Amino acid sequence: MKQLISVKFLATMQNEQDVVKDAYVLFDDKIIEYGKLTEEKAQQFQNDKSVSIVNKVIDGKIIQANSVAFPAFVKGHGHDETCLIGLRKEDILTEWLDNVVNPFSKFIKENHEQLKKKLHDDPFKVVFRKCRLDDIQFGITTYLAHQCNYNKYYIDELVEANDEAGTRAVIAVGSQDRNFHKEILDTVDQAILRLDTAYGKHKDNKMATIIPGPDQDFSNSPEMLKAQKQWSREHEPHLLHIHSSEEKIATDLFTQRYGMTPIEYFHSIGMLDGNTFVAHQVQSTANDIKILRETQTPIINNPLANTILQSGVLNYKEVIENKIPYAVSTDGSGSADNQNILAACQLAFNFIRQQKGCPNAFKMLQRVTTSPAAILKQNVGTIQVGRQADFILFDCSKPYQACLTEENLLQMLLQKFVGNEITDLLCNGQFLLKDGKYGPRVQFDADKVINQVQIITDDFMEWMKQAEIIRETGVGWTMNK
Ligand SMILES: [Zn+2]
Repeated sequence: MKQLISVKFLATMQNEQDVVKDAYVLFDDKIIEYGKLTEEKAQQFQNDKSVSIVNKVIDGKIIQANSVAFPAFVKGHGHDETCLIGLRKEDILTEWLDNVVNPFSKFIKENHEQLKKKLHDDPFKVVFRKCRLDDIQFGITTYLAHQCNYNKYYIDELVEANDEAGTRAVIAVGSQDRNFHKEILDTVDQAILRLDTAYGKHKDNKMATIIPGPDQDFSNSPEMLKAQKQWSREHEPHLLHIHSSEEKIATDLFTQRYGMTPIEYFHSIGMLDGNTFVAHQVQSTANDIKILRETQTPIINNPLANTILQSGVLNYKEVIENKIPYAVSTDGSGSADNQNILAACQLAFNFIRQQKGCPNAFKMLQRVTTSPAAILKQNVGTIQVGRQADFILFDCSKPYQACLTEENLLQMLLQKFVGNEITDLLCNGQFLLKDGKYGPRVQFDADKVINQVQIITDDFMEWMKQAEIIRETGVGWTMNK
């Protein structure tokens, strides 16, 4: 069935000028057409029995939603294990991995059966459902989940939660074979088998794409990375994702120990090209920038996480002037506080203003729509005929949103909107949010998930009191030999 939505404004993000006032979008699972809703058009749609009108119709008139329609956001980098644990924000990244992130995953793994009984549910699936709620709330339909550390063992649970939520996942399957907690070190064969297994199981699922996601620059040997890059060359969509040059102390130590920067290391084993995209890259040398430019390796920048965890700020000026592809993302909820990707975009915008003058609003908003869609090779990111019908409705009735015009809409969206005005979110033409509430496509009870998450959190806090401290997952490797 075709559906029609009428809104006050529509920004397609195809180009800067494509903003329509008094607009409509006609869609099924894809965008069929859009434009200005003239009286003639409105009549035509009302007479067409194959079209279901989403808005109220009173006395034969379609009541326009006081909303801005905008492409759904695309998250280029995030983690689903960190959603519960906004703890110890005073830590720098590697301490925080040691103190919070990895103990949490270990806690769920070790107490899996007990938690399962208590929750009447799989605890990993509960966590992954919660992550989908976070994304949906902030208008994200398509995301990369980097399943790092203990999470690499739980790919099927994430795919199931993703299917239930009606979202679209690119899942980077983690690995590590050095400089890490020994309990989860892989051999190359184990890591490749994990990829083969996940790929084999889910390759027909149009909403879940499996790619290699070796965790960290320092935790994967050349043999491991070469094998994973080769695997990515042999499997659609040929992508590979890895953390790179995030924290200064770890990046400096890497460079000392191996005699090259992480980017020089990746390049030396032939890993960098448009299909390998790196997260963070806030510590770049001039030579790193040169390599990234020559290889056109995309960067996923996470300004909220990088500043909260004190890792640093991307050198936007150099990245932009060297025409290195980049997208803006949030990272996991533990490291970025929530999944407000518009807030991440606003922060990047303000950093760029400091470094090289005011960026264009359209180009900035592309960093959370069309840029990550292109990097992840997904048919989303614009409202455009033939694209998947993934879009947001922002309520625009707040006082700070007054004075919207076709000319200032993108600037207002970038600088004045908060990110929580989203009332409706569609993925493949199905409602993940409707009138400010989850569903009907979301197939689990959001309130129940929140309660279950509270139980896991309380038990985790108890467990932490006597847990053995793991000193090899984050900063720990820097202390070994
Ligand atoms: Zn990350």
